Amino acid sequence: MKVLVTGAAGYIGSHAIRRVRNAGHDVVALDNLSRGHREALPAGAPFVECDVGDRERVRAALVEHRIDCVLHFAAFAAVGESVREPLLYYRNNTNGTLGLLEAMQAAGVKRLVFSSTCATYGEPAAMPIHEEMPQSPINPYGWSKLFSERMMRDVCHAVPDFSCVALRYFNVAGSAEDGSIGEDHEPETHLIPVILQAMVGARDKISVFGDDYPTPDGTCIRDYVHVDDLADAHVVAMERLKPGFAYYNVGIGHGHSVKEILAAAEQVLGKKPPYEIAARRPGDPPELYADASKIERELGWRAQRTDIRATIKSAWAWFQRRPRGYATAGKSP
Ligand code: UDP
Repeated sequence: MKVLVTGAAGYIGSHAIRRVRNAGHDVVALDNLSRGHREALPAGAPFVECDVGDRERVRAALVEHRIDCVLHFAAFAAVGESVREPLLYYRNNTNGTLGLLEAMQAAGVKRLVFSSTCATYGEPAAMPIHEEMPQSPINPYGWSKLFSERMMRDVCHAVPDFSCVALRYFNVAGSAEDGSIGEDHEPETHLIPVILQAMVGARDKISVFGDDYPTPDGTCIRDYVHVDDLADAHVVAMERLKPGFAYYNVGIGHGHSVKEILAAAEQVLGKKPPYEIAARRPGDPPELYADASKIERELGWRAQRTDIRATIKSAWAWFQRRPRGYATAGKSP
């Protein structure tokens, strides 16, 4: 297939492109480079530099490159920022998706795999989370993605043969095996890269956002899925698209607390990460981990890289060799 990847210069998009190409498909990369990195773009693939919500330019790219399928990653993904600046999220994530869907309809492209999130479930009454639990986000990031899912459902209903899969990711972590691409947000807010920054002195310490949650050690629990496993889930989902709207959780099926992640990082790096207990971060549910049995049952995907220490080690491999030009938190490792 010829696949348009939006958010191609971002963390997950850049990893997905490698797996998609390895599976024998052709990629066209799209990104507005507002938060992605030119260096992360795939060599030898056409690059369209534009906003995903720019429906005319996206339509033209879909037609020019005879695209069969779109993998849609382009989005902002920081929960705390979404609470402070909700409209930024509705514009970029929801409105961006609206523009993309309009462009796809105008170009007659009917296959879409969407980067959704477990944040659409909000604070579920029970764990693990399965796909039929109510979706009731507790932050604008989650809503911005749920509105996108809603539009996709409606398009699938209205347009014959439109096929869409929403993959609801849990917490994505780690880097490509060769350490050549990885996670690099500016500012960085995600737990594992923040720990690595603190380990090299690029920030003083990690703030643990709350230790008074109703969890065994009081810190939040999340399901950390390796980015290459997640990328493989996209390949499978893309290759097995069927008309209509489908949705799957993508996680490893159990969680780690923030304190467990700190302990695992200590094991991998051989020294204690400096941390302090801070206030809760608005919008954080206490516990999120996946029941990922539906995607295994229906698409045959299952997380392979489930050892959190190996995931942190792969993130560290990337962190140590990130090339010049990538943002850093102040000092190079
Ligand atoms: N977290 C933390 N300190 C940080 C960053 C994250 O304690 O500097 C916690 C956060 O409250 C959450 C977990 O680590 O419980 C994972 O947060 P992250 O931002 O990595 O992903 P999210 O769960 O928001 O998608």
